[in-house]
Amino acid sequence: MLKIGCHLSSSKGFLAMAKTAEKINGNTFQFFTRNPRGAKAKALDEEDVKAFLLRAEETGLGPVVAHAPYTLNACGAEERVREFALETMADDLARMEYLPGNYYNFHPGSHVGQGAETGIRLIADTLNAVLKPEQRTTVLLETMAGKGSEVGRNFEELREILDRVELSDHMGICLDTCHVWDGGYDIVGRLDEVLTEFDRVIGLDRLKAVHLNDSQNPLGARKDRHARIGEGCIGAEALARVVKHPALCHLPFELETPNELDGYGREIAFFRSLE
Ligand code: FE
Ligand code: FE
Ligand code: ZN
Repeated sequence: MLKIGCHLSSSKGFLAMAKTAEKINGNTFQFFTRNPRGAKAKALDEEDVKAFLLRAEETGLGPVVAHAPYTLNACGAEERVREFALETMADDLARMEYLPGNYYNFHPGSHVGQGAETGIRLIADTLNAVLKPEQRTTVLLETMAGKGSEVGRNFEELREILDRVELSDHMGICLDTCHVWDGGYDIVGRLDEVLTEFDRVIGLDRLKAVHLNDSQNPLGARKDRHARIGEGCIGAEALARVVKHPALCHLPFELETPNELDGYGREIAFFRSLE
């Protein structure tokens, strides 16, 4: 059965997110580990987590995807910025151990003029400092649109990060359809070729989740502006082919489209109608 859900607010806790996902016929969801601006995370409510795990087990919900604050930059030029990224990730990963077997996705970072090579090294250094052999969370690098000085704008850069991570068994990739499209990968006209390329450079076994978004901009625009499904330059038909593709259909799909809950519900219904 198709695993699909959307980005949800975590402000009311895990059980509340599970119930919200159920309402819109979702069987996975994504959430920010803390305020995206990167403020301090609330203490984890263990009773809430227990109730969530029970409910997830009963309803077949999950895996779920935690998203690091997008302001976090593991390859910033200032030590203070990198330090913040490292501490935040270490703290998030410690919390994720209460929900074993799920994913923690983050934007690799922006090299802010230091060059991609330096960025890649700094990101790998951060991962080598926070990953633990015994952890049960898989950390995902998100494919990026390549706006500004973003690292991870092509499959090669992500491969280079993975190659430098010692505990690379704990690492995977989250493919964002808007980002790869904006990054120049033609998932509308050449989906098979793009996935073959992904397999050649990174390996499809590394692909653990998909961010399912349309894009406001044309192929290669390097902009990163998400659109609702069918209201952008990728289109509903091409995104339907993504969801049904044999190399992808078993993965959790997370919508990050500009929507309220009812809009997400309609998008989920659309993708479920294809089954
Ligand atoms: Fe993201
Ligand atoms: Fe995304
Ligand atoms: Zn985006």
